[in-house]
Amino acid sequence: MSPKDFWIQILNRLKPTIRKAHFLTWFQNTTILRIEGSEIIVGLPSAFFQMWVSDKYGVKVLQAAQEINPEIQSIKYEVSPKLADKGNSEGVDVKKLLTEDDKKVRKVKNENEVCIEKGQSGEKICSKMLNERYTLDTFVVGKENRLPHAACSAVAHMPGGIYNPLYIYGKVGLGKTHLIQAVGSEILKNFPDHVIKYVTAERFVTEIIDAITKRNMVSFKERYRHVDCLLIDDVQFFAKKDSSQQELFHTFNELYENNKQIVITSDRSPSELDGLDDRLKSRFGMGMVVELLLPDFETRVAILQKKCEEMQVLIDPEILNFIANNIQNNVRELESVLKQVVAESQLYDKSPTIASAAEIMKRMNKAQKIIGYDIEQKRKNAFVARNAADIITFVAQYYKVTPEQIVGLDRHKEIMEPRQLCMYLIKKELGQSYERIGVDFSSRNHTTVINSVMKIENQLKKDLRLIRDLNAIRQEMGFSF
Ligand code: ADP
Ligand code: MG
Repeated sequence: MSPKDFWIQILNRLKPTIRKAHFLTWFQNTTILRIEGSEIIVGLPSAFFQMWVSDKYGVKVLQAAQEINPEIQSIKYEVSPKLADKGNSEGVDVKKLLTEDDKKVRKVKNENEVCIEKGQSGEKICSKMLNERYTLDTFVVGKENRLPHAACSAVAHMPGGIYNPLYIYGKVGLGKTHLIQAVGSEILKNFPDHVIKYVTAERFVTEIIDAITKRNMVSFKERYRHVDCLLIDDVQFFAKKDSSQQELFHTFNELYENNKQIVITSDRSPSELDGLDDRLKSRFGMGMVVELLLPDFETRVAILQKKCEEMQVLIDPEILNFIANNIQNNVRELESVLKQVVAESQLYDKSPTIASAAEIMKRMNKAQKIIGYDIEQKRKNAFVARNAADIITFVAQYYKVTPEQIVGLDRHKEIMEPRQLCMYLIKKELGQSYERIGVDFSSRNHTTVINSVMKIENQLKKDLRLIRDLNAIRQEMGFSF
């Protein structure tokens, strides 16, 4: 190890024990000039530094050196004027040590809160505690949630400002966790140095109990009182937990007095928080209180569309409308039905249909009564295609064209595909001759029919969407698939 590397190791040990600004002032461009037996000779840029460093930091430096090499007995400080030269690179660039360290510290110290990830698009700040899908951009804004969304955005731009604390309440599954986490991520984006802590009330209570039993309240307080923004999800959980409430009260006051941002969610308004200390209730209501309301039909459809975009799937708008119409009280359920519909469609290679969505909702027990589709009735009168006309009618309906267009002469792609598919199905399911099929399709020649059937066969080898459509059609027409 070169003397300079040895010095870097010593500096790295000193770093956490000396205030940043002081560390930078007194150790910038210093180095070990030489080592003589058990003595280290440290070079400093001027006599003033020599006096100051040996006086103030002498003991610490020696300790650090001995931790690395126990043989070291003493340290001598020498003035080396060339270290004061700007261009001289003999001394250690402490600034660099500090910035490197900053990143490391962020990674370690706030392991639960935030870390910096290096990606292709540069550095990205992310947090293990914050779900990166929950951002203000991915939150669909309708008239029922415009105010909460705007308040979150305002807080993200000016944490600790006038909307402090921000209290968001609303029924289950309406986006409280999404919004509170979005505030955290957005603050991190705007203020990368801020320490954000997201915690569910349940976790907060567990940590307090844990701290009390282990007599470790100091570290608990450290964790919570030194953050720039505290996000507490589902505070109704504090009801009747007196000692936790007390700790929350003190944490709240400390952060609030230091203009640190606090965001709280709950399933009810502050005044309705039964079992909570009045002084907490009044503090919760001190800043901005906003309510998340049930999204209306249009917003629900927009949310479904957004989720489709996120999952990168295309689903017939009619099916999204059908789901939105049936799931009215809970966005989480809306999303879970959609996910199930998508999953089953991928699993069985079958495009989703109203019928399959209805079956899924019924099975998941999400809708009390399915609106817009009668499962029982459909099951009783299960449609079974018996002849070419049935197939043509059904396929036309599926592709939203008319039976006349299917058998007609229009050569647009939107018509050609369903037409070829009809010919394919009539051949495969009903076993009709090519000649006979040709007659039903505006007296086409049998070779045209053969070509159409072959075209579909070839496409089915590579076109996943067509496979799914065909499977959905076959199933609903009562053919096995
Ligand atoms: P809560 O905490 O109120 O019970 P969540 O925040 O967990 O509800 O929301 C449930 C699901 O619904 C989440 O996946 C969330 O992304 C989604 N969600 C709720 N509201 C919206 C919205 N307006 N836009 C997009 N997604 C939403
Ligand atoms: Mg929640």
